[in-house]
Amino acid sequence: MIKNLKKIFIIGLGILSCICFLSCNKSTLVGHVSITVIQPMGGHCRYSVSPATIQTLDNLQEMRGKVGRVLFSSKDLEQNPEILNTGKGLEPVDIELFKSGNAYVPANLDSLFAASLYYSIELGYLQTKRLDPNIDLAAIVPNFSDTRIIHRAKRITGTNGNRSEISDNAEYYPLKMTASNGVSTLLNYFFSYPTDHINGIPLGLNIGIMNHEFSHLIFQHLFYEPGIKRNMQVGESKPTSHTLAAVDEGFADYFGFLAVKDPGYFLCSFPTENRDLARPKIFTPEIVSRIESNSESNFDSHEGGAVWAAIQYEIGQTLGDHQLVGKSLLRLMSNILICSSTSSNNTLNFNFADLARCHQAILSTDGRAGQVAQQIYRKYLGSYGAGL
Ligand SMILES: [Zn+2]
Repeated sequence: MIKNLKKIFIIGLGILSCICFLSCNKSTLVGHVSITVIQPMGGHCRYSVSPATIQTLDNLQEMRGKVGRVLFSSKDLEQNPEILNTGKGLEPVDIELFKSGNAYVPANLDSLFAASLYYSIELGYLQTKRLDPNIDLAAIVPNFSDTRIIHRAKRITGTNGNRSEISDNAEYYPLKMTASNGVSTLLNYFFSYPTDHINGIPLGLNIGIMNHEFSHLIFQHLFYEPGIKRNMQVGESKPTSHTLAAVDEGFADYFGFLAVKDPGYFLCSFPTENRDLARPKIFTPEIVSRIESNSESNFDSHEGGAVWAAIQYEIGQTLGDHQLVGKSLLRLMSNILICSSTSSNNTLNFNFADLARCHQAILSTDGRAGQVAQQIYRKYLGSYGAGL
């Protein structure tokens, strides 16, 4: 049976208060502004509270700019879905800043958190453009500046007897809204959930993890949206749906690494997870069978994703060029729709070997990179590596 790509669309994841920053022309960017945020300082899980340059804010007081806005609602977003559907009930975080030298300094934790959230999403935007100047998400994503970054998102799931609030997590949540005239728009949400059990870096402040989430937005708009527009179908002669879900997570783990340059960034929040990109991983027969199985209960997209990300990390390390790998993966995201190994007759049908072929074709324009990728894919793809 063939499924429509749309159907497997993955929801994959007060000291100085009045600063009139840009009162006259809201369409003009404020330009560079120095704000104290929580940011990586190099090395494994080392963060500092220090000034960073934010480049795309239009309104500092509302943490709003080219890449979106930081918002908050005290209401439960699960039980009040109209808040996400309409945006009504989402308010700017009450930002309080003071000026110290040339830098703005948040005066309380919420303000510091909100500034850090904006900073991490901006970093994802700028990183994408730096990797490939042709990919300007502000031009590709409709209403990109309407991206909603929800601070301390409150969502209580489950039925009455078993209700629990989501915590210790972060998520990219593409919400499709269809108007009565049939026109659809996609609202891009990022949720930073409250921290409950994590002793390390809260998810919303872990810039690697927020950029993992940002990668889901990139994949949404470089792969899913164009695929849906072309009415691409998803075949079932190969484990395409599971492979798609896993490679989405793998891209995300790798782009998270690129943002912080720490392959172990995931462990800063979850120390016991097997998500360190620098630890080589292989597609074992067990992992392959879980991907190939039709069962959802044994399948965790993050498992195969972690293998894919570790492979990309090793390619980048071997070449000494993670920028090249990052750029090639952005290309791969959109090329999955057109590669002969992954798509034919408007139908997607692929496993990880087919993705590797599509990726090698991109890297082969740089002879050495293509060869290195081939060797590393053969080493870690397990049964998928035969014939590469
Ligand atoms: Zn993810």
